[in-house]
Amino acid sequence: MRRNEKHPESQMLSLGYQADKHLGAVKCPLFLTSTFAFKTAEEGKAFFELAYGLREKAKGEEMGMIYSRVDNPNLHLAEQRLAVWDGGEDAAFFSSGMAAISTMLLTFLKPGDLLIYGAPVYGGTDHFINHVLPDFGVDVFQFTAKDDFNGIKNRLEKDYPHRYPAFIFTEIPGNPTNALIDIEMCNRLATDLSRDGKRPLLAVDNTFLGPLFQHPLKWGADISVYSATKFIGGHSDLLAGACVGRGDLITKIKGMRTFLGSMLDPHSCWLILRSLETLKIRMERQAASAQKVAGHLKDHPLVEKVHYLGFLADDDPQKVIFDKQCLSAGSMIAFEVNGGEQAAFAFLNHLHHFKLAVSLGSTESLAEHPATMTHVDVMASDRQLFGITDGLVRLSIGVEEPEDLIEDIDQALAA
Ligand SMILES: *Cc1c(COP(=O)(O)O)cnc(C)c1O
Repeated sequence: MRRNEKHPESQMLSLGYQADKHLGAVKCPLFLTSTFAFKTAEEGKAFFELAYGLREKAKGEEMGMIYSRVDNPNLHLAEQRLAVWDGGEDAAFFSSGMAAISTMLLTFLKPGDLLIYGAPVYGGTDHFINHVLPDFGVDVFQFTAKDDFNGIKNRLEKDYPHRYPAFIFTEIPGNPTNALIDIEMCNRLATDLSRDGKRPLLAVDNTFLGPLFQHPLKWGADISVYSATKFIGGHSDLLAGACVGRGDLITKIKGMRTFLGSMLDPHSCWLILRSLETLKIRMERQAASAQKVAGHLKDHPLVEKVHYLGFLADDDPQKVIFDKQCLSAGSMIAFEVNGGEQAAFAFLNHLHHFKLAVSLGSTESLAEHPATMTHVDVMASDRQLFGITDGLVRLSIGVEEPEDLIEDIDQALAA
C-alpha cells in the first residue's frame, strides 16, 4: 500500500485512478470484459510468466491485465482502496463473504492440519469449518470468548496432544451477542503454538466493526477477512467478500482464487468503489444512531437484556478488550424480549419500518430472530453457551433518523 498523507476517506476519491487516462471520466469506468488484448505476443508471454510466478518482476516492469478471473481494472482498484482502511499491504475481493473465507482456508489448510477457531462464528463459516473441512482431513478445535490463554492451551493439549495448529480463525465481535475475543491474546497464542519457526496464521472475521472501528492487523492478525455484503457494500444490493493483509499471503490467496474462480465480478467491484466513498459517514452515522436506540431499549420495561458493546460494565473483562481494540460500539444490537419466541415473533411481526430480514450493515435498518433464522443450525447446547435465547432479537441499525426507529420499536413492543 502507498502510505500517502491523506486520510482513508479522502483516498477513496482518488487513490489509484487517473481521470485523464479515461477521457476525463471522474469515476472509474466499468470494465465489462472477460479478456484483455496484448500489444504483442512477447507482452502476453511476460504477463503469464509473472502471473505464474515463473520469474521475478524486472526493474520498472508493470504487470498487465490477462483475463478477468485473474484481474480486472475494477477489481484491482477496489482492492487497492480497501487495503487502505485496514493498513494492509494488499487486499483480495471475492464473490461473497463465504467465498473469501473458504478460499482463504483452502489456501492454507491441507489434510492432517489442525484448525482452531473462536466461536461463535457466522452460520455458514460454522458449517464450512465443522462439516466441510473435516471431510478434507482437517481437524477442528473450538474455543469461546470465555476461555483465556491458559484455558485454551490446556484444553488443546488434552484434545490434541502434541499437535500444533496451522491456522487460527476468529470472528470479532461474535454474532449475535457481540462477544469479544482479544486479538492480542490470539497473537500470543499463535506465537506460543509455533513449531520449528512455523507460526500458525491468524485471521479475524472483521465484518461487524471493520474496516473502520477495528484493525486486527494492528494487533497481530495476519489477515482481516470480510463479508463485504455488509458494511463495505452497505446498501443491500450486492454480495461480496474480502481478505486484507500481508502482500505475500494475499498473493497466495489470489492464486487459489484464480483456480476456484471465486473472484468478484466487475460490476460488483464498481458498486464497492461507490460504497467505499461513503463508508466512513455511513458507519459513523449508524453507530451514533445505534447508541440512541440501545439506550432506549435498556430502559424499556419489556426488554430483559441488551447486548451492545457500549454497555459493558467497568469490571467486565470484555470491557478491557473493547477499550483496547475497538474504536466504536458499532451499530449491531441484540436484546431479549420478555416472553421467549412468542414475544419475539410478536415484536418482529409488528415492526413497520424495520425490515424483517437477515444480513446487516446496510443503509436500512433490519431485524431478525437468531435462534430460528441465522443461528438455527447451531447446536442447541452451543446456542445456550453463546446466549442465543428464544427471546433474542438482533437489530442492524441503518442511516434513518433514530427517533423514527425508536418510535417503531416502541409501538412493536407495546403490541
Ligand atoms: C454475512 C457474514 C458472512 C458471510 O458473508 P456472505 O457475503 O453472506 O457470503 C461471514 N461472516 C460474517 C460475520 C457475516 O456477517
